[in-house]
Amino acid sequence: MSTTASARAAAGRDFIRTMVADDLASGKYDRVVTRFPPEPNGYLHIGHAKSICLNFGLAREFARGRCHLRFDDTNPETEDVKYVESIIEDVRWLGFDFGDHLYFASDYFERMYAFAEHLVREGLAYVDSSSEEEIREARGTVTEPGRPTRYRDRPVEESLDLFRRMRAGEFGDGAHVLRARIDLASPNMLMRDPVLYRIRHAHHYRQGDAWCIYPLYDYAHPIEDAIECITHSLCTLEFENNRELYDWIVANVPRGDDGVAVPPQSHPEQTEFARLALDYTVMSKRKLLQLVNRGDVSGWDDPRMPTIAGLRRRGVTPEAIRAFCELIGVAKANTRVDIAKLEYAIRDDLNHRAPRVMCVLRPLRVVITNWPAGGVEELDAPYWPHDVPKEGSRPVPFSGELYIEREDFAEDPPQGFFRLAPGREVRLRYGYIIRCDEVVKNADGEVVELRCSYDPGTRGGAAPGGRNVKGTIHWVSAAHAVPCEVRLYDRLFTDPDPEAGDDADFRARLNPDSLVVIERAFIEPGVAGADPGVHFQFERLGYFTTDIVDSAPDALVFNRTVTLRDTWAKVAPGAPGRSDGRPDRTQKRAPRKRAPQQREARAAPAERDPALEGRLRRYQAELGVPAEQADVLTRDVAISTFFENAMAAGAAPLSAARLIVNELPREARERLDSLPTDGTAVGTLVRMIDAGEISSSAAREVLDELIRSGGAPGDIVERRGLRQVSDEAALRAAIDDVLRDHPDKVEQYRAGRTGLLGFFVGQAMARTGGRANPAVLKSLLEAALNA
Ligand code: ATP
Ligand code: MG
Repeated sequence: MSTTASARAAAGRDFIRTMVADDLASGKYDRVVTRFPPEPNGYLHIGHAKSICLNFGLAREFARGRCHLRFDDTNPETEDVKYVESIIEDVRWLGFDFGDHLYFASDYFERMYAFAEHLVREGLAYVDSSSEEEIREARGTVTEPGRPTRYRDRPVEESLDLFRRMRAGEFGDGAHVLRARIDLASPNMLMRDPVLYRIRHAHHYRQGDAWCIYPLYDYAHPIEDAIECITHSLCTLEFENNRELYDWIVANVPRGDDGVAVPPQSHPEQTEFARLALDYTVMSKRKLLQLVNRGDVSGWDDPRMPTIAGLRRRGVTPEAIRAFCELIGVAKANTRVDIAKLEYAIRDDLNHRAPRVMCVLRPLRVVITNWPAGGVEELDAPYWPHDVPKEGSRPVPFSGELYIEREDFAEDPPQGFFRLAPGREVRLRYGYIIRCDEVVKNADGEVVELRCSYDPGTRGGAAPGGRNVKGTIHWVSAAHAVPCEVRLYDRLFTDPDPEAGDDADFRARLNPDSLVVIERAFIEPGVAGADPGVHFQFERLGYFTTDIVDSAPDALVFNRTVTLRDTWAKVAPGAPGRSDGRPDRTQKRAPRKRAPQQREARAAPAERDPALEGRLRRYQAELGVPAEQADVLTRDVAISTFFENAMAAGAAPLSAARLIVNELPREARERLDSLPTDGTAVGTLVRMIDAGEISSSAAREVLDELIRSGGAPGDIVERRGLRQVSDEAALRAAIDDVLRDHPDKVEQYRAGRTGLLGFFVGQAMARTGGRANPAVLKSLLEAALNA
């Protein structure tokens, strides 16, 4: 896809892409420059991946876009070069390229310091010698304005002198701070003379002992962005209140081309988006570090960790992580994401990569009593038995002694158990039908062996004579199988929101069964010699990967990346097994205690409302709604009705589906029946977006209000003044005003300074209160100027 086509496709995807497209169309910026700014104080996690996919994605989608990798290393105490290295590796592994644009905030320390002196000289900053406690106390509260400390009106020269001596190391930690002089009565507490610099006699991993004063994030970050000419500075929602300070710093840093000041054209703007929070895990680096330091996990790359390194080791691919980030989208409201979404993306990706093989985790010996002594038969087994259009097979040896899964045998089978039991038959995948004739036990009464007979006429799964064999199980030949270690990973916490409530005891919610190690499982011989990092699907068990740290071709260690479909766990025990030679996955999962995870998962087809099943098919086949969205939209009658009503109100199905699945907060989706709004109103909103009447960021504002207090979308748009002005007459009036007020610039433009277009667009946009449809405005302006 060409960049323009990809930019066009990107524009409607989320409010940030829409904003970037608008900013480029209006000439506000001539390219998009983003940055991913991690602090090197821990490993990257999947929340960072969301930010990486967004920032690098924008750079890729829009012509001349660029994304910087910048280490925000302004805090000496916790940073380390080992984190720098792991972060670079992870960003590259995720598939993103920063080219030459690798930066370190600490490289700007000298300039930041110079800017701070400038602020002091301008009367915009002062050295405060109060204690931390006194400063906090004088700052006031939300209901009370702050008071000046006795240092606020200290002469500029005195502040300058003290600040220089702070840098020179004359004072101990905490003796003085540098504060901006802004507004002690500001309703925004962050504007009440924020601290810009503090004294810290600490060793910096990159600057060594060159500095003993360090800038605070709120001061450093906007400067870093401005120096690098970032256009869109994207951060998570908790920084919303910091935006005002961000703008203040950007407005007050000195500009010019002398190499110390920031480039004059650089006016980065901050926009916030929702942080990713994933069920059953934590995202804070501080907490992840605690897990590592206390030995709850084996390290940052423990496959249970939500880190990129952990996911990679678990067997998750970069493609799956990117697909997940695309699936969850970018929105403005914080919600927790169901881990089922991540698992969906992982399965969807591995399905095409992982050949199917057989592995027995908890072996039970089966002796085939009527098998010719010493005989071995090679069965041809496809690697891709299902819907994956791939070819390839391998020989699997069958002999008189096999291992089957211990839980595929029941001495006293419950109703609906279709696997092996005394006197019963089962099909061995790709092999023969066997019957259990005798059960051998040890002195403790444990079953140690089954003696079975096979039916030579059933090779490859045929069931002659109308015989009804419901179950199919996996197996390996005992003499040929390769022993291996298998690590079964489960979610790290038992609680979907381990961070809820008291922060201190999140570790109490660790899942004690998050790792089960099977030291001696048996895998079919074809897998022997597999390199580390190779994917397989173990039939009926899940997707597995050879561990990249501990596995060797002659000593295999497998990690379970993800189980097979969740829905299968819910199939009623009485449901028939498959008789088509495919693995009967319905039998496998019952013993697992997975209940909490089923919250948002679909019920098995057998239990589901046939009307919803019909809609699921229709949404996908007729309306072209993507499978995952169609799935969400048919989870229950309420959401399906909501969607139907939106379409009935005239919304395009794809737009409505996207909005309901991606923009409606999950919290709202779960109580659709009690919302003050309904599908009809949301459908109307979708129609307005598609008609270009409002931008998608405006739509999000409207949606917020609908969810909170209902109403008619049209009224909300009018009341809030959100309607995009596309009306040519209205836009022309604004344009005429601008051209009349700036005859000199018009002349310059016509003489060839076409770069002034951005200026005109900005002026005209301001006259429409920011509501002009930028694309229309720009083309009308060009026409007027070239007339
Ligand atoms: P933590 O609180 O875990 O230390 P952080 O936000 O301080 O996280 P940084 O290294 O400063 O971590 O983050 C780098 C970038 O990644 C920031 O722009 C931040 O907004 C983004 N980011 C961090 N966590 C998430 C998340 N859960 N979802 C989306 N973006 C995130
Ligand atoms: Mg941070």
